[in-house]
Amino acid sequence: MPELPEVETVVRGLAPVLPGQTILRVEGAAPVEAVGRVIQAVRRYGKFIVLDLDGGMLFVHLGMTGQLRLDEGQSEFTRARFHLSDATLRFDDIRKFGKIFCARDYPQRGPDPLELSEAAFIALTQARRARIKALLLDQSFLRGMGNIYADEALFAARIHPLALATRLSRPRLANLFRAIQAILTEAIAAGGSSISDYVDSRGGKGSYQDRHQAYGRHGQPCPRCGTTLERILVVQRGTSFCPRCQRR
Ligand SMILES: [Zn+2]
Repeated sequence: MPELPEVETVVRGLAPVLPGQTILRVEGAAPVEAVGRVIQAVRRYGKFIVLDLDGGMLFVHLGMTGQLRLDEGQSEFTRARFHLSDATLRFDDIRKFGKIFCARDYPQRGPDPLELSEAAFIALTQARRARIKALLLDQSFLRGMGNIYADEALFAARIHPLALATRLSRPRLANLFRAIQAILTEAIAAGGSSISDYVDSRGGKGSYQDRHQAYGRHGQPCPRCGTTLERILVVQRGTSFCPRCQRR
């Protein structure tokens, strides 16, 4: 599923192209109230791509398999098309968990991990009675993290996914926070992780999947200590971790 770095990559591809263009016509699941509006900016809000319009905002959530591309074509998986004054935006979604809607307010979400301070992260985390992995997946706690980057950050910080947030010391949480920011930043620089269907706004793949240390690597040796990585379920999400070097 596309997470913060993948959505940021799509946004960075669209931001130089869309502002100033008018939405002339829409097809499929695109909201008709967007027609006639001028796109003023393209931003990311958590895992949402946000188009600022001259009146309201258009939100696109890629769900599991969504792709938002500058492309005039279409396929059997094309769910929506936006005909703009000087481009066509196409939204494809094989599994149909993606969403497109217009709104005047943002959906309720927690802070963005790239905009948060270390002290604020520690205070927020220590106040929550939850398993740390469940917390990282919770969009009302932090917006933008998902299964890939939660597994990678916990591995980097040597924290067990089932560790209780309230029991983690300040130095360990500071470590986790720095891991989250470093990994998200590196993943953005790599154009995100292309797992299943993710592509950027030009149809290109990211390369951060080649650098995953833990995510999806259960059954393989830990890159740090050689112990076989294990898989458990945390809030119904497959979670890969090292039972030796990730501690509660
Ligand atoms: Zn290990």
